[in-house]
Amino acid sequence: MARVAVVTGGTRGIGQAISVALKKKGFRVAANYGGNDTAARQFQADTGIPVYKWDVSDYAACEKGVASVTRELGAIDVLVNNAGITRDGMLHRMTKENWDAVMSTNLDSVFNMSRLVIEGMRNRKYGRIVNISSINGRKGQMGQANYSAAKAALLGFTKAVAQENAARGVTVNVIAPGYIGTEMVAAMPKDVLDTKVLPLIPVGRLGTVEEIARCVTFLADEEAGFITGACLDANGGQYMA
Ligand code: NDP
Repeated sequence: MARVAVVTGGTRGIGQAISVALKKKGFRVAANYGGNDTAARQFQADTGIPVYKWDVSDYAACEKGVASVTRELGAIDVLVNNAGITRDGMLHRMTKENWDAVMSTNLDSVFNMSRLVIEGMRNRKYGRIVNISSINGRKGQMGQANYSAAKAALLGFTKAVAQENAARGVTVNVIAPGYIGTEMVAAMPKDVLDTKVLPLIPVGRLGTVEEIARCVTFLADEEAGFITGACLDANGGQYMA
C-alpha cells in the first residue's frame, strides 16, 4: 500500500510544491495548513490532496491532527516539517511576541509533530522526517535573530534525532533553501531584487519551489536510507557551508 506523507504548511508556497511532488511519487499525502481556508480549498480542488487545518505550534492541536490523518489515510511514514513564518526586525526593536511567534511556529512545531510520529515510525522500523530550515539559519541574517535562531536549531534537532533513530530505519534530514521565488520574495521591489538579492546568488536566479520539492522527494525515498543527519543546501551557491 502507498506510504502516507504529511506536509505541514503543505497548501501554499514551497509546501504546496512538496505535497504535489510527493503525490506524483505515489505517496498518499495530507497537506496541513494554519488559517488560510481559501487557499487550502483551492489547493484541494486543484490537486485532489486532502487538507487538514491545525496550528502546528499547538501540541494538543497536533495530537488531534495526527490522529485524524492516521485514521483517514493510515500510519504516517513521512513527515515534512515545512510550516514557517517570519516576523522580522532588528533585535533592539524586536518584541517578545514576535520572538515567541517565530520560535513556536518554526521550532516548537518540529518538536510537536516529530514527537507525535516518532514512536510509530520506530515501532514499524521505517520513517522519513525532513525538516525545512533556511540559508538564514546557516549563515544568520540581519533583522532575523528570531528566524535565524529557530532555523539554526533545526540543524541540531535533526542531528540528535537522526542519531537516536538510525538503527530503527528512520532517517532525519534537513533542507536549507536559499531565496525561492515564492509570493513573499516575488513581492519584493524589482530594484531591490535586482541590486541586493540576485547579485549574491552565483547561479544568477531565484530557486523554484519545485527545486526544493525535488530535494524532499529525494530524501523521502525508500532508497535514501543511508542519508541521515544531513543538511542539503539548495541556495544557488549563495552560501557554501
Ligand atoms: P508560505 O508563507 O508561502 O506558506 C507557509 C505555509 O505554512 C502555509 O501553508 C501556512 O498555512 C503554513 N503555516 C504557517 N503557520 C502555520 C501554523 N501555525 N500551523 C500550520 N500551518 C502554518 O511559506 P514558504 O513557502 O515561503 O516557506 C515554507 C518554508 O520554507 C518555511 O519554513 C520557510 O521558513 C522556509 N523557507 C522559505 C524560503 C523562501 O524563499 N520562501 C527560503 C528558505 C526557507 P496558511 O496557508 O493557512 O497560512
